Amino acid sequence: MSGLAIITEACIEVKDRACVDVCPVQCIYEYNPTTNVLFSEEEAGSGVIENSHVPDPDMIAVFSDTILYVNVDECTSCTACYQRDVCPVGAIYPEEQVPDGASKTQYNSSDANKGHDHTFFIQLTRDVFAD
Ligand code: SF4
Ligand code: SF4
Repeated sequence: MSGLAIITEACIEVKDRACVDVCPVQCIYEYNPTTNVLFSEEEAGSGVIENSHVPDPDMIAVFSDTILYVNVDECTSCTACYQRDVCPVGAIYPEEQVPDGASKTQYNSSDANKGHDHTFFIQLTRDVFAD
């Protein structure tokens, strides 16, 4: 499926969950290191968990709870989360438009990591979910 959402490094330590509130299928997850669970909420911060998954221990060790993760097996490519007015730091890209660090690739205007190769996050997003 094209248009799967990928969250990249600008989310790190920002994590304001604005994307969570616009996702219609609750496929954007936070990691709880205390319970070792990836969980999603319909309304960010509500405490009402909609979906949960077990993380891959090696993959979750990379960014742990500093960033949010899209489960691309559940993402419907609805486009809501990567509209310009959602993520305050431009961290979310459609999979086909994740910048690879080449000078000609396009970055979100508010992405603080312009010039970096973000393609690592495509694989991380897939591998962080163990089930
Ligand atoms: S593209 Fe739509 S379904 Fe996929 S993560 Fe973003 S808001 Fe959710
Ligand atoms: S809106 Fe952007 S910064 Fe906020 S949690 Fe989502 S990806 Fe992270």
